[in-house]
Amino acid sequence: MRSAQAFIDNTQNLPSPPAIALKILNAVRDEDSSFDKLADIVMTDPALTVQILKIANSSLYGLSKRVESLPQATALIGTDALKNIALSFVIVKNFDRVPKGCFDLNLFWRRSISTAVAAELISKLIGCKQKDIFITALLQEIGVLSMFLANPEGVGKLFDEKRVTGNSYYATELKHFGFSHADIGSRLLERWNLPDSICSSIRYHHHEKIEQQYRDTALTLLLAEKISSIYYGTSAHKKSIEVHQILVEQYHISKEQTDELIDMVGEKAREMMSLFAFDPGDIKPFSQIIQETNDELRRLNFTYEQIVFELKQAQKNAEKLAIDLKEANEKLRELAFRDELTGLYNHRYFQENLDSELNRSTRYNRPLSLLLIDIDFFKKVNDTFGHLVGDEVLREVACALQKLVRNCDIVARYGGEEFILILPETGTTGAKVLGQRIRRGIEQLEIRHGDKAIPVTVSIGLASTEMDTIALGKTALIAYSDEMLYLAKRNGRNRLEYSLSSSLALA
Ligand code: GH3
Ligand code: MG
Ligand code: MG
Repeated sequence: MRSAQAFIDNTQNLPSPPAIALKILNAVRDEDSSFDKLADIVMTDPALTVQILKIANSSLYGLSKRVESLPQATALIGTDALKNIALSFVIVKNFDRVPKGCFDLNLFWRRSISTAVAAELISKLIGCKQKDIFITALLQEIGVLSMFLANPEGVGKLFDEKRVTGNSYYATELKHFGFSHADIGSRLLERWNLPDSICSSIRYHHHEKIEQQYRDTALTLLLAEKISSIYYGTSAHKKSIEVHQILVEQYHISKEQTDELIDMVGEKAREMMSLFAFDPGDIKPFSQIIQETNDELRRLNFTYEQIVFELKQAQKNAEKLAIDLKEANEKLRELAFRDELTGLYNHRYFQENLDSELNRSTRYNRPLSLLLIDIDFFKKVNDTFGHLVGDEVLREVACALQKLVRNCDIVARYGGEEFILILPETGTTGAKVLGQRIRRGIEQLEIRHGDKAIPVTVSIGLASTEMDTIALGKTALIAYSDEMLYLAKRNGRNRLEYSLSSSLALA
């Protein structure tokens, strides 16, 4: 990494000062004859004279009457101002091209000229004593241009890195070169013999801790740069807030005055650019920039609200879908466990449910009973009325069973014209009462087919875990209920049979 001095000393293609600029600088060094010499030099170039007079007559200097000659101009705005106008003009004109690359020379000078105009107006507003503020601000970034001219590729890479990382250009160049455009610019201008007040101000324009004597100048340059980037950079709204913050904190300048200042910079910079023969581009009034920024912010806010709204909608839809899916799954599960003809639980469900109910009854030592129900002489119903009527009878019986049991009881179609009931928390006595109620209920059903009554009765076999002191397994329990049902059939049908002992039942 080379030092700034080594860079200046060893780099061949650094810009040299325009000859006329050197002459102007030499002329004004001698205090006594400064104006005459300056006038002599400028007048050798009639085009330059015209330009200087135009700039002197611009609204930036606010002269009350139009000046037609250099002596008149000097009398009104002073030799220093005239010198600075002349220097600014010849220096800017001297840099009329850059190597092909990422450097937008036109934009560079637009920004520099508007920075210079801003600096001039700020210094008047805050009472900054730096008499060379216009040219200082104009040249404060000349180091960037010089470094680009000396090393277009290296500086191009810095621009890219700055864009990608979002870090400041100043921090990026310090990281890679170890020195900054402020060092290079100030050293270059020293070489050109520009006054120390200009060179020092440029050297320190990025320093945070600044000597008191340079404080106003440094703040003016900082503010001018910010105002310029309101027009030619990004984050206009943020920059205008920063400008106002500094102005109010350091100089008690109001918001209205700040806005007026920024507005005036836009207006006068446009005029100055055309005097420097630069197209000002689409420089918009500050009020319009703020309006557009606000509109953009509102649009972004709106879009943000819209996104939040749509997200919420999507979330709601997703939640609804999840509920629908859960319901659909439950329905499917329900369907898988339902008997198609009667709508009761099917045999599979009965088997699975009996397992879990028996486990529960064993765990809590609670009774459980089964009622196996078979329609009496059902074959005859089919034979007499046909299979479809038989189906209808099955549905009616199923419906009646459902109504006759308690909520906690499970009614399933065991197969054919047989039904089975799981009665949790129910011992033999309770099951007997419920069984009889069911038997009577079915007996009393008045099922008809046309004008013919279809008498329907059922036989019921009861088995209960209370039947034995030893725990009854699932198979044994079903077997006992089947045995009792068989007994009911043998004993004349339309009856319920049970036994208090399994051995008795199986005997
Ligand atoms: P029991 O009193 O001894 O039980 O006599 P039953 O006629 O009811 O008994 P059986 O086992 O001889 O006949 C049962 C009949 O039930 C035979 C079968 O066709 C009929 N069945 C079984 N499933 C269905 C069905 O889904 N629909 C109809 N309509 N009939 C069925
Ligand atoms: Mg049967
Ligand atoms: Mg039967």
